[in-house]
Amino acid sequence: MKVAVFSSKKYDRHFLSEANANGGHELVFFEPKLTSETTALAAGFPAVCIFINDQLNPETIKAIANNGTKLIALRSAGFNNVDIKTATSLGITVVRVPAYSPYAVAEHAVGLILTLNRKYHRAYSRVRESNFSLNGLLGFDLHGSTVGIVGTGKIGMCFAQIIKGFGCNILAYDIYQNPACLEMGVKYVELSTLLATSDIVSLHCPLTPESYHMINATTLQQFKPGSMLINTSRGGLIDTKAVIDALKSQKLGYLGLDVYEQESDLFFEDLSDQVIQDDIFERLLTFPNVVITAHQAFFTRNALKNIAQTTITNITDFEEGRESKNIVKN
Ligand code: NAD
Repeated sequence: MKVAVFSSKKYDRHFLSEANANGGHELVFFEPKLTSETTALAAGFPAVCIFINDQLNPETIKAIANNGTKLIALRSAGFNNVDIKTATSLGITVVRVPAYSPYAVAEHAVGLILTLNRKYHRAYSRVRESNFSLNGLLGFDLHGSTVGIVGTGKIGMCFAQIIKGFGCNILAYDIYQNPACLEMGVKYVELSTLLATSDIVSLHCPLTPESYHMINATTLQQFKPGSMLINTSRGGLIDTKAVIDALKSQKLGYLGLDVYEQESDLFFEDLSDQVIQDDIFERLLTFPNVVITAHQAFFTRNALKNIAQTTITNITDFEEGRESKNIVKN
């Protein structure tokens, strides 16, 4: 099948080409994102393969449907950037990679916690400049602290397993309780209780209309003073302006982000020669107690290999008319 691969980087080419070695698909790699402005690139391709910052809104989907596209293959688990209703109504199938390495994301979330707590980012620079002072590097024991997990699916569950090893008390909030988490001793509570009692809150639920800005000025008031917020899930879960206010008032003691609501204008590109126009993002960078990574939680060899293999299988299944559990239903 002829597939237009959007937002493709060197590593996407490598892993997808390797996974397609026997698959027989014709993969054409495009660096630009698929948006309403780049749909002409998809003309003549029955399948498009996209990532998290491609914008498959109704306008884009209608344009690619007119161009003859029948399949949208996501190289991600999250599908909040695709208007599934419009795709379904136009007879376009949407497939995703529901699981590729929950470990990669969970481990990165733990990395953010350790970095914020023990300030490795500052220690690294100091020691390289022969500054061996410990002032300003004081942390706290994770052992005995309370960690609140919002969303206990595949990644939240992995995160709980790792955090349990540190000797933390684990609280969780989810619209469904995960029996495996209950078995581990995770205690499910209301979101307000979780926020009020946790030293660390880590978000692992998808971005949906219900979860949009779940961390906002009102819910931030419920946080334990000086606590830590980690978001490796989706930027839209957080109202960034409200979080900045909470950091300024010191209600929030630490913030670790791998995702940002307006990240599509920034992440995955080298903008080091440019003047960044996003003042909210730039304000975040001024806080000593904020650590931001540019959506790299998924970025392990294991995850990229699994993403590529499942994506090629998804495309083959569609081409050969096989029903797949990876189809995103409306
Ligand atoms: P999953 O579907 O296995 O688990 C999600 C959990 O969230 C489920 O238990 C679900 O019941 C729960 N949930 C749904 N809506 C909720 C709500 N409103 N409040 C509380 N809980 C809710 O998904 P997963 O594989 O664990 O992935 C979680 C999220 O992680 C994805 O949706 C994606 O946004 C994000 N993610 C980020 C990266 C990265 O690189 N940063 C990589 C992969 C996934």
